[in-house]
Amino acid sequence: MASWAESELRKAIKADQFVCHFQPKVDLRTGAVLGFEVLSRWNHPQHGLISPGSFIPILEKTGLSHAFATRMLRKVFAEARDFLPPSLSVSVNISPPQMLGGSLPAMVQRASEEEGFPLHRLVLEITESALLDDLDRARASAKGLKSLGVRLSIDDFGTGYSSLHHLQVLPFDEIKIDMSFVRSVLHERESRKIVAALVGLGHSLGMITVAEGVEETAQAAMLISMGCDHGQGWLYGKPAPASELTNMIAPPSGKGSGHRIDCPNARETCANLESYPAQRLAQLQAIYDGAPVGLCFVDSRMRFVSINERLAALHGRTVPEHLGRNVGEIVPDVFEQIKPHLQRALEGESIQDLEVRIPGASPSDAGRVLLATYQPARDEAGEVVGVCVAVVDISARKQMEEALRRSEAYLKAVFNAVPVGIMIADVSDGRIIAANRQAAKILRRPLDAEGMPNAFDQWLAPGAAGQQLEPSEYPIARALLRGESIHNEELLCERADGSWAWVSLSARPIVGRDGHVEGSAVTLRELDELSRTNDSRTERLPS
Ligand code: C2E
Ligand code: CA
Ligand code: CA
Repeated sequence: MASWAESELRKAIKADQFVCHFQPKVDLRTGAVLGFEVLSRWNHPQHGLISPGSFIPILEKTGLSHAFATRMLRKVFAEARDFLPPSLSVSVNISPPQMLGGSLPAMVQRASEEEGFPLHRLVLEITESALLDDLDRARASAKGLKSLGVRLSIDDFGTGYSSLHHLQVLPFDEIKIDMSFVRSVLHERESRKIVAALVGLGHSLGMITVAEGVEETAQAAMLISMGCDHGQGWLYGKPAPASELTNMIAPPSGKGSGHRIDCPNARETCANLESYPAQRLAQLQAIYDGAPVGLCFVDSRMRFVSINERLAALHGRTVPEHLGRNVGEIVPDVFEQIKPHLQRALEGESIQDLEVRIPGASPSDAGRVLLATYQPARDEAGEVVGVCVAVVDISARKQMEEALRRSEAYLKAVFNAVPVGIMIADVSDGRIIAANRQAAKILRRPLDAEGMPNAFDQWLAPGAAGQQLEPSEYPIARALLRGESIHNEELLCERADGSWAWVSLSARPIVGRDGHVEGSAVTLRELDELSRTNDSRTERLPS
């Protein structure tokens, strides 16, 4: 970098060799152009465009910065007035000597009047270091500028030494997060933490946060997800002369959509992100509080970061009693049960439907059964930072299941104990779906479903000897097929060993909810020769 002599710079100011380049500042989420930052260039007759880094420090050291700033400001106002739509703001960098000099507000006011540029469109950017030297004087300048309607921005934020005190006593509207953090935001966790902290700080003080030096869409996406408001950088546009900005500030195509830089990534990110972190938090809180399940978030050291009322109540404590405390401390009686699962979730595994049994306090207390889900939560870089826990109390369901199981067992006992054969038949083909012990005995078949007949002709006498009849052709099968009731019909049933038994058969259709006959409940009583009454039987013994 060349070092310029004071005399050369003095001549350059006089010869009006400094030019303004404008770089767009956009709304990160929509890509809407909000304004431009002016970055000076020295249009050197021999060396061409020279960047400000090589002449601004010399101007500041030699006391020329006031003359430079006065000329630049008028030039900026004139160009902005002529080239930019009135809705767009203009940010101008101010050297520390100006900020501390005392004449800045008057100079700004005069330039604005002479060039006809309203000061509500002006943002002045001041680096942190400018504040350090003399806070009182900086405060006096800031007050004067604010009273003119100028907005103030703190530049290169995060790199200097400004304390929270500076932010508190100086009326800044905006903080610009230094590009060194933006550059590493994708790769360094520390940078992400710093950016998140700066965004949080800015928002908590009611300031807009602007990220400088955004070059990649992935950086923009990350910044959006962290709640940063505005952005500047090559992704949206390089600094350029006002006359070359037309494509960026061409009238918008859609009605009222404003000047927009199309950044597909921002739109994608915003589709997944309905609101700013503060609103998201409020929404999450509402979901949390209203959820019909117990919810909590546990950090990587198994401490409660948040918990909803429902789960807190399930633990028999208040919400604040949980916060910051270890899971083992809050639920010692189940911690050993859940610890290995929590650990696995912290290693990135999603754990579904874990049954957790909480022992009862007394022998008469059955305790409770909870169904828990552990979902690892990851940060922007995919690292697990904690576990989301959802818990449902399924004690009532478990009790019901148990009661059902018991009544089923009773019914089964009764089913098998009655001295009458009972079978459930599928009416479509005569398959026996279930049978009690007595039915198995009559048919001389094993009790299991496989051992039971799976067609009418395996248990109902098919008709006269040698006759091959379809089920629809023998009367009892036909009645069963139609879902009819049958009352004490005497007939022959075929046994597994091929022999035949006289039985008295009754049946009742089992009708489903839709009125459709789903099956038939069949009862069988074995008859001996003497107890047979009906000689005009429809079914006959095959010879
Ligand atoms: P700054 O205010 O922090 O401006 C941002 C610098 O980053 C500019 O450098 C800009 O061209 C550059 N930049 C913008 N987007 C990107 C990006 O995506 N990637 C990278 N790598 N760089 C980007 P520039 O124009 O060389 O200005 C350097 C510094 O000079 C400015 O830093 C500002 O502090 C100072 N400056 C510029 N113009 C003026 C002026 O008129 N008055 C005063 N007092 N200082 C000025
Ligand atoms: Ca700046
Ligand atoms: Ca900066």
